[in-house]
Amino acid sequence: MSSAQILQVRGLKKYFRVISGLIPRLSGEIKAVDGVSLAIGEGEVLGLVGESGCGKSTLGKTIMRLEEPTSGEIIFNGVDVVKLKKKDLQAMRGKLQIVFQDPDSSLDPRMTVGGSIEEALIVHGVQDPAERNDRVAGLMEKVGLEAGFVDRYPHEFSGGQKQRIGIARALAMDPQLIIADEPVSALDVSVQAQILNLMMDIKDRDGLAYMFVSHDLSVVKYISDRVAVMYLGKIVELADKREFFQNPLHPYTEALLSAIASLRPASKERILLKGDVPSPLNPPAGCRFHTRCHRVMAICPHSEPEFREVAPGHYVACHLYA
Ligand code: SF4
Repeated sequence: MSSAQILQVRGLKKYFRVISGLIPRLSGEIKAVDGVSLAIGEGEVLGLVGESGCGKSTLGKTIMRLEEPTSGEIIFNGVDVVKLKKKDLQAMRGKLQIVFQDPDSSLDPRMTVGGSIEEALIVHGVQDPAERNDRVAGLMEKVGLEAGFVDRYPHEFSGGQKQRIGIARALAMDPQLIIADEPVSALDVSVQAQILNLMMDIKDRDGLAYMFVSHDLSVVKYISDRVAVMYLGKIVELADKREFFQNPLHPYTEALLSAIASLRPASKERILLKGDVPSPLNPPAGCRFHTRCHRVMAICPHSEPEFREVAPGHYVACHLYA
């Protein structure tokens, strides 16, 4: 990665306490994010993939501090986000934004869409109403919606249009990085391409970066510069897109790619993953993937593999590459 880093995450953990019993007491911790380190450069798109429940959405929310981290560092533009007080955190969020899978979750059904976008500007201190009106109209046009739609309510828009409005809200304060959490998963396939193209156009025009969270490797291949794979709270592989798709190393990555005919190398068979993702409440010892791995070795249940660089820019956590 040649560009300057705008986000560095080091050893980030997010554990959720589980309270149970007639006399409520702590019975365990769900290790949703368990020691994640990664970096994103200016204008870069990092795709983050993994099955449902692997912790990728929690990672995005924890980076935003919508979930409080258990430990670790989140450095955004040289500032440790974990240490920010509420007021400074709010200011920071103008430049570090999130777009959710369900656009309804960020739109108030009782507020016009223009009002929703304007609200983001008010929160970030744009006080002049005339300036806000101009910026709302500009943002609507930027995401491909007529400025005249500002007085309409969310229910008057399609799913794709609502996601455009969600993106307009996120763009309100000229962010440098958007965490896009499955932003097209709820949309029809034909609309998905339109939203992805819109996001790429905005990125190219404004130079912003994305952390693009998705379970869909085809989408990630289309939009990403680098790809990271997450399994049970940990990153298990990270590489440039070309290297990732041509030379996947981690057995979990191999299995994910083999499940998609268009991404499977012609010489390879489909690898069927055994069973479900184990509970993050009680993850397997050693390599967390060993209960499902088609290449498991004697060492794997006993020793956790280190996440190490095995080729320039290609990192993997697997004893096959120790
Ligand atoms: Fe499979 Fe062992 Fe590698 Fe884990 S460390 S992915 S169990 S081969």
